[in-house]
Amino acid sequence: MIHAAPLPSLDELASGVRAGRRAMLARAITLVESRKGEHRALAEQLMQALLPFTGNATRVGITGVPGVGKSTTIDALGTHLLAQGHRVAVLAVDPSSTRTGGSILGDKTRMARLSMDSRAFVRPSPSAGTLGGVAARTRETMLLCEAAGYDVILVETVGVGQSETAVSDMTDTFLVLMLPGAGDELQGIKKGIIELADIVAVNKADGANTPRAKAAASEYRAALHVLGGREPHWSTPVLTYSGLTGDGIEELWGQVLLHRERSESAGAFKAKRSAQQVKWMWALFDDRLRARMRTDPALRAQVPAIEREVAAGTLAPTLGASRIGCLLGL
Ligand code: GDP
Repeated sequence: MIHAAPLPSLDELASGVRAGRRAMLARAITLVESRKGEHRALAEQLMQALLPFTGNATRVGITGVPGVGKSTTIDALGTHLLAQGHRVAVLAVDPSSTRTGGSILGDKTRMARLSMDSRAFVRPSPSAGTLGGVAARTRETMLLCEAAGYDVILVETVGVGQSETAVSDMTDTFLVLMLPGAGDELQGIKKGIIELADIVAVNKADGANTPRAKAAASEYRAALHVLGGREPHWSTPVLTYSGLTGDGIEELWGQVLLHRERSESAGAFKAKRSAQQVKWMWALFDDRLRARMRTDPALRAQVPAIEREVAAGTLAPTLGASRIGCLLGL
């Protein structure tokens, strides 16, 4: 049996992360991803110790259906940002991923240029679990990356369940990528994805695709106009670009910066981050509660009977809830 190397101390981890040492950052991420009780305790201390050094990055969520060009775009955008002197971290939220099965997102081979560059950090999604768990670990990883000096964090996700909402809840600007044409221009709007978007960008606006990309962009613009803005200081722009050629990538980033600038001057930037922090705390708490429900032997033994009685109509749901609360010591 192979024994894992002993865990570094809290001080070693904190100072190693702050010094931007990749190996230490990777160990810190492994620690926050661990479900073991003693690891969680150390991870919590580490997050608290590093908290003052977080929050300095521009956090961007990126979504779009498989094939829309997320990895191509992140590779091009990330490379552009590195050339400007930024340090870029790419993370992913993919609740369906497993370590062995291979995550579709955040796979280094998908971002050929970026993953070869030592100024960038590419990390696949934490392995399968509840969306809440995967999102919480990605969020902690994001904070670790910030403490390590990465000033742009790109968080990638696909339209699976609520993963987009989770990513929008941990980022400042949410970017929705769309395909040109395909006759389903309004699909995203039906799914409500567009409503989360701070920026809509139609990819593959190159060669023969260009007119279709422009037509799709017009449709989205019209639809967004009907929907109206979410925030008084921002109306969602619709751009066309090409991740492949890099045309329009600079403008895309320009919109990310503009969104941040407008949010900051409207006072919305800080307010959103504060609200995200509190929401996150409650999400973690809910997750813990659910974990306890699954693992506590007394609860596991008694909850099904309570559920059956409520289903049969012999126990009032309010009393059922109280009984479960009692079992939890609430
Ligand atoms: P993902 O699944 O969203 O990550 O999409 P990929 O980045 O893997 O891209 C899917 C396919 O679309 C690949 O074959 C890419 O080469 C192609 N692709 C991505 N961006 C562009 C683009 O801007 N123009 C064109 N023509 N093809 C693109």
